[in-house]
Amino acid sequence: MRAGRGADEGPGGPLRVTEACADLLTGAACLGCARPGRLLCHDCRAALPVHPVPAVLDPTPPGLAPTWAAAAYDGVVRDLVVHHKERRRLSLRPPLADLLTRAVRAAAPGRDAVLLVAVPSRRAVVRARGHDPLGTLVALAARRLRRQGVPARPFRLLAPHGAVADQAGLDAAARAANLAGSMWCPGARRLPASAAGSRLVVCDDVVTTGATLAEAQRALAAVGLPVTGHAVVAATLRRHPPPAPARPDRPDRLPWVGRAY
Ligand SMILES: [Zn+2]
Repeated sequence: MRAGRGADEGPGGPLRVTEACADLLTGAACLGCARPGRLLCHDCRAALPVHPVPAVLDPTPPGLAPTWAAAAYDGVVRDLVVHHKERRRLSLRPPLADLLTRAVRAAAPGRDAVLLVAVPSRRAVVRARGHDPLGTLVALAARRLRRQGVPARPFRLLAPHGAVADQAGLDAAARAANLAGSMWCPGARRLPASAAGSRLVVCDDVVTTGATLAEAQRALAAVGLPVTGHAVVAATLRRHPPPAPARPDRPDRLPWVGRAY
């Protein structure tokens, strides 16, 4: 029995039945509509965005290659990412891989060869999670692209370098400073000659400020590998706080302090 379109795929071959049917066995409900059964029902999967958009980063890191997001990091897409990454719900790999594939195609349109480079995860993090969520999605996206006639392959070019503090709660400038020099490119020496001329797309699950993608691009450029574009499953929505009134007592006045003007 096929559990759904593409749902029986894994990076190294068919998923085991236990994985494909885990949603049913665990009494899951759809993350989109709460219908009992699969973690993402057929209708909610069909309703996922199909047109990637350029990620709006404000400010955009200087020199950042075009960045495409398959969806906004909100609602059901956010739930898909979190449940897959943090709760190891492997049945969510196919819809997430579909989203990443679309973003890669937007970042590197056409049918020339593409190398997909995942933003690196620390080994301790992968161990703690019990899987490599992004690495798996990148491998699946490459497979989908090949089916679509695009010569694509995943390649682990990047590795973490040094310690990085938790990014949570940092603003764009602090994230950039925290990440500066945090990646390097040990995989460049292993690149086969056949990869020459390939376009290079950096892949991540979520973009927030673009600092991680910028650091990946810097590390690749440092070994002579220019990045064509970045592709992410989802882009964090910017929620600007409502502007504060100029002066609570005189909202028509500019917020200068000191003498009245
Ligand atoms: Zn649903």
